[in-house]
Amino acid sequence: MSADVIAELKEKLRGISLLEHSIALLEWDQETYMPAGGSESRAAALGEIVGIKHKRAQDPALGECLSKAEDVASGSGDLDLQALVREVRYDYEQAIRIPVPLASQIAESCSQSMAAWKSAKDNDDFAQFAPLLEQQVRLQSQFADCLQDEELCPYDILMNQYERGMTSARFGEICKVVVPGLQSLVERAASQPATTPAFMKGPWDREKQLAFSKEVAAELGYDFNRGSLDLTSHPFCTSPAAPHDVRITTRVSEDNFTSNLYGVIHESGHAMYEQGLDPEWEHTPLCDSISLGIHESQSLFWENEIGRSEAFWSHFLPKLRDYFPGPLEGVGAQEMANAVNPVRPSLIRVEADEVTYGLHIALRFELEQGLFDGSIQTSDLPGLWREKMQEYLGIQPDTDREGVLQDIHWSFGLFGYFPTYLLGSLYSAQFYQAINQEIDIEAEVSAGRFEGILQWLRTRIHAPGRRRLPLELLEDATGQTLDPSVLITSLDRKVGLVQGN
Ligand code: ZN
Repeated sequence: MSADVIAELKEKLRGISLLEHSIALLEWDQETYMPAGGSESRAAALGEIVGIKHKRAQDPALGECLSKAEDVASGSGDLDLQALVREVRYDYEQAIRIPVPLASQIAESCSQSMAAWKSAKDNDDFAQFAPLLEQQVRLQSQFADCLQDEELCPYDILMNQYERGMTSARFGEICKVVVPGLQSLVERAASQPATTPAFMKGPWDREKQLAFSKEVAAELGYDFNRGSLDLTSHPFCTSPAAPHDVRITTRVSEDNFTSNLYGVIHESGHAMYEQGLDPEWEHTPLCDSISLGIHESQSLFWENEIGRSEAFWSHFLPKLRDYFPGPLEGVGAQEMANAVNPVRPSLIRVEADEVTYGLHIALRFELEQGLFDGSIQTSDLPGLWREKMQEYLGIQPDTDREGVLQDIHWSFGLFGYFPTYLLGSLYSAQFYQAINQEIDIEAEVSAGRFEGILQWLRTRIHAPGRRRLPLELLEDATGQTLDPSVLITSLDRKVGLVQGN
């Protein structure tokens, strides 16, 4: 009887997961190979399948089966089973508490608002986007009301959609440490040469770039037998059937090989997380990533901690030189590491370096918090943006296109999402520190040995899936609680190396 209940629950979850597989694949194809003419019928197909999936996810029969499974799990002493029903309950409660009309209104308003954002950005006209942005804030507040929680404010509820267990109070405390720490690093780095070294200027042949970055991804541990690499204008990673079918995309620019290389390493980091999930629990939340912050920690770990290190270049520079012998003749690993670690305040978040990036996030967090506690109106945003840029980074945009209109997130109603980028860097720095106590990372990387490092991440971060919440996972893996000073210390060391002192 009890085995039957669990089997029935797994069967229902499998059905939902297979629909998600189809959705992910249709979306991936839409971004990569679908001819432009296919967009209308693709939207219809996606709408149909997403509708079926939502219905299944809030089916009362699933709720009944889950209640029975909870009884079985509670007396079983089986920790996996207990984690499974806890996570299915979490998803189910979320699904049933959002009324269908609100969900469709949000979906509809996203496509409208994204179109308005695009045009407002092109025309540098914030006023065009403002009413839609206001609507997004209103809809997301209603969304948060549906999930009302005694302990969490509406903005916290939104943050929890992406990072369970995080609150604005906690994140605010983190910013109090991180912001001044990063600011003093920016000051310290100001003596760095502001020009790009001549050997970085290119042009870099596209095909060779792709061949090299593919070679790097494979060496780091991205399994191409269960993964692919394609071209898109915005790089991403998607996982139709983790851990068996995971896909990444990239872009290539002739004047800058780092955009492609670090893009591929970043997305491979995301993909390796998905490839490391536990196949035994395929189609269930135990074979799913726990949060965006943890996901980002995996991409940033490989991109920044490993990929931008001198050790990385000791190993990979000769290989890059095989592809591009001319421009790289006589360039050493340290020179290369310096060239890929510039620290310079800039206006655009996605182009920001590792040090200034967190300041862009702190700014967005502060504005979002204000939008949801009512202390900031959407009409205040362009002015506040300039003020905060001045305060945090010492520069100001001349246009809203390079200011408040630069990111797509708000047009999608993604509020509370930005903090996960900074959390990703914090986690990643702590993972590095913990691994380094067991494995000499620099020695391994210089020798081109990555299996030990990946194995550490596999066991402690990837395989647990959603068994542990983000902050629990961090503690289990590192023996430490979240400590923002680790990131600052690690960046301080890096800035020191680049400065040559
Ligand atoms: Zn990422």
